[in-house]
Amino acid sequence: MFNRTGFIALFTTIALLGLGIGYWKCHRGGCFTSHAGAYSLAALEGKDNIIPLAIMGSGPAGLAAALYGARGGIHTVIFEGDKPGGQLMETGFVENWPGLPKKLGRDLIASAREQAQTFGAHIIQDAIIDIDLESWPFALKTKSGKTFHALALIVATGATPRKLGIPGEDQYWGKGISACATCDAPFYKDKDVFVVGGGDSAFEEAILLAPYTRKITLLVRGDQARASNTMQERIKAYPHIAVRYNTNISQFIGDDQHLNAVVLNEKGEKKAENIHGVFLSIGHTPNTKLFKHKVSLDESGHIVLKGRSQTTSVDGIFAAGDVADPRYKQAGIAAGDGVKAALDALAFLRELGFSKDVASKLQAKLFVPDGGLDRHALTELFSADALDKVTKENNLVVVDFITDICPSCAQMQPILEKLAAEWQEAALSKAPKAKFCKINLMKNQWASARFGVQSVPTIVVIKQGTVVARTGALPHEKLAAFFKAAFSR
Ligand code: NDP
Repeated sequence: MFNRTGFIALFTTIALLGLGIGYWKCHRGGCFTSHAGAYSLAALEGKDNIIPLAIMGSGPAGLAAALYGARGGIHTVIFEGDKPGGQLMETGFVENWPGLPKKLGRDLIASAREQAQTFGAHIIQDAIIDIDLESWPFALKTKSGKTFHALALIVATGATPRKLGIPGEDQYWGKGISACATCDAPFYKDKDVFVVGGGDSAFEEAILLAPYTRKITLLVRGDQARASNTMQERIKAYPHIAVRYNTNISQFIGDDQHLNAVVLNEKGEKKAENIHGVFLSIGHTPNTKLFKHKVSLDESGHIVLKGRSQTTSVDGIFAAGDVADPRYKQAGIAAGDGVKAALDALAFLRELGFSKDVASKLQAKLFVPDGGLDRHALTELFSADALDKVTKENNLVVVDFITDICPSCAQMQPILEKLAAEWQEAALSKAPKAKFCKINLMKNQWASARFGVQSVPTIVVIKQGTVVARTGALPHEKLAAFFKAAFSR
């Protein structure tokens, strides 16, 4: 028989063991651990920058979750991340959104953003770079150096296109190698291109390239393509699209400026072949780096969900869209997941006792963006003369070369407008003043040749009439560093 002290000691040991097991399991990401007992609204005492519902990612999953979170009366903040809008921004027309026969991917995202904002969701241009899930509220650290405290978090970070990881790939990326036909197809007018991959995306890329290019060859590494029958039938209508099976690229070759050939490995035989451009479409990797060893992931790195819900191995953390979907990867499904994740998150907050009363008591501690995404529109230039005039009048000029149909250009626009607001006004102490402009290459063909633009967006810095630096699309922080270095040259 135990006396009272013995019973307490045994109880404490069992409790500690239990906690230890939970901790151990959670750290190996192999089980579902419940912290529910550890969550108490009292933990919010002394915390600031509180966000009842935080969402990472602004694709269809994140935006649908925000819509439901905000409509559910919960203060909801989306961290847009480095690629606002996600993969739909790089898709052409979306034809499989129920009830919407045809709409450009980026327009669909624009309406979803507006809809979520109408109901009060806040969208901020920042990315979360570190997360502490060991204590609650969850501490979220962002690129801009801030720390937020989230009561519930929906992970909708999507997936990133895969690369081949072979010699020459980094060197010729954006100089003949692309992962976005919608963006770069117009650069391959009457040229020959390869599309690597045998999935639906690869076949869709080939069809997107068809109106521009002379010849498109799909390179499929196996002896059959996994694209749907519909897609495989659809390409037969294009006489200039061919499929080569058992073929892969093992090296990219060029003249430093542009890709001009590849080494092909075809049925085990290696040979060099000339080509003007290569489009990669070989699947995606889920963006779960931040969650490794913190939340259960499957072998391919996708977040593991509990049953038919969007709940994850950690209470209060939910996942939606491609980040947790190794199978279907459809925008419509991502949006549906987002809705489910928000409903799960609202139920979680309710169970915690987070009511309207609690929210109003916390009002002063909530993080409310100041709306201070100060933006300055870029001046559009329509002729070489207009550009010459601007470069004569301004010591420093930034030119963003874009096209109408380039989704990355649309993604870069808010980032550039924000930086333009900082540099154009020389708001930073001792900062030089720079004039930010944009040139649409579809209306100004002279500009591609004059500035050697081979991919959009291309951003150049012109100092006293001479180009001193150039880059493609970059996340906000990297672009800010790029300008800082270029301006001080
Ligand atoms: P998938 O994973 O379906 O296909 C990837 C393709 O890339 C496969 O053919 C794969 O070959 C190939 N691949 C992978 N790695 C390499 C490599 N290193 N070298 C060469 N080839 C490689 O991805 P998708 O992006 O095509 O599609 C994702 C999902 O989205 C799918 O469910 C698809 O159905 C869906 N989708 C639907 C569309 C629509 O309905 N309109 C449009 C686009 C996508 P292997 O087969 O040998 O593994």
